[in-house]
Amino acid sequence: MAGKQFSMKPKTVPRVETRHRRIVTQLPVPESIPILERLRKYEPLSMTGQPLIVWDRAEGASVYDRYGNMWLDWSSGVLVTNAGHSNPKIKQAIIDQAEKGLLHSYCFANEPRSSLVEKLVEVAPKELDKVFLLTTGAEATENALKLCRTYGRRKNPDKIVMVSFEDAFHGRTLGSQQMGGIPSLKEWIGNLDPGMVQVPFPGNFRLEDKSFDLFEKTLADKGIDPENVCGVISETYQGGESAFLPVEYARKLAQWCKKHDALLVFDEVQAGFGRTGRMFGFEHYGVVPDMFCCGKGISSGLPISAVIGKSSVLDLYGPAEMTSTHSGNPICSAAALASLDAIIEADLVENARKMGDILLTGLEKIREKHPDIIGAVQGRGLVQAVCIVKSGGLDPDYEMAFKIVELCIEKGLMMFAPVGKATVKIAPPLCITAEEVAEGLEVLAEAVDQATA
Ligand code: PLP
Repeated sequence: MAGKQFSMKPKTVPRVETRHRRIVTQLPVPESIPILERLRKYEPLSMTGQPLIVWDRAEGASVYDRYGNMWLDWSSGVLVTNAGHSNPKIKQAIIDQAEKGLLHSYCFANEPRSSLVEKLVEVAPKELDKVFLLTTGAEATENALKLCRTYGRRKNPDKIVMVSFEDAFHGRTLGSQQMGGIPSLKEWIGNLDPGMVQVPFPGNFRLEDKSFDLFEKTLADKGIDPENVCGVISETYQGGESAFLPVEYARKLAQWCKKHDALLVFDEVQAGFGRTGRMFGFEHYGVVPDMFCCGKGISSGLPISAVIGKSSVLDLYGPAEMTSTHSGNPICSAAALASLDAIIEADLVENARKMGDILLTGLEKIREKHPDIIGAVQGRGLVQAVCIVKSGGLDPDYEMAFKIVELCIEKGLMMFAPVGKATVKIAPPLCITAEEVAEGLEVLAEAVDQATA
């Protein structure tokens, strides 16, 4: 389903002036319209859909335009700036690397790449001892798919079935999109690969049967022989509605993969680097996958991603057979290294856990007041989804979610627009303070009251 566009017509909104928010102009700001119009003219339509704010600068959990407005950020861009916007350590690392005079080295060695892969292995579970650096999240999940199939085919030429979950999102490239479980996003493919199958996602609050039996039964109904499954991939939590797997299910899934010699992959592109109150989200399950994919929050800003896994899997290809032009770019690697250091030094993982508890308590209060339109509040740490439903039922109410986000923006709370799901998604930088969480909750409560009045 396509998203909605925000109106380009400047609207007079109430003035806001607090320590964390300032709205002193019409929105969108009249002077910013030429910038927005240029984007609309020269970019594909698909690049529209976010609130019409021209970001000029961002710091910690604050986003500024250049017209005097300031937003408290509940988006982290799109769950990217885990260590805070413009984190000073990251900024300095980028400047230092640029000043040293090495912007690129292909797969020739560079020192930041070497330090980063060592550090990533240090923070990952001990069984996972290799890191392949890439650029985007989709590239990482696409690579995990390739490794699963390579692993399978070396055992048996028919062992090529990749199992994933309904409603999942793993990126927009051919393989990653086919592993996704949102049919409308796959219409462009036309000839879907029969070796990629989806099963119901047990974290879906609308699903009654959350037992692992349903996983096995669905595969049997689809005529899949478990011995032909090369891998199972799941987002650690499904991003659309911040939905986690039941712990028992995750454990049974890991056992099933072991029994059938299928690789277990978690897509941690959203969940990684402290977002859920653990360094990696799958730690909530007490399960170690064979590999996991990282992106977004890995560097808190620059484009870099990774597949982290067992050497028995990551070493399946020989010298120069599995590479990428920008793998381990020195500036991106320096940024990721600094981001990881910043997260560890300030214990932002623990802050995400603590702030997440405060956030969840506040969101539950909003839900108690509006049980008819809030079907569920779900998430862990600093990723929470307020699932908006049509009054009295469980059908998603996209229009209402959009209206709530629009009102938040007008009040100085930065959120990204709901896409596909009717979710008001909350994902602030992990350095957010209790005062900022409380202020954001007040704004959201006001917006929900207003949208439903
Ligand atoms: N996997 C998950 C869980 C994601 O949320 C996303 C992006 O939203 C991706 C993969 C794709 O990442 P990218 O947009 O960097 O390709």
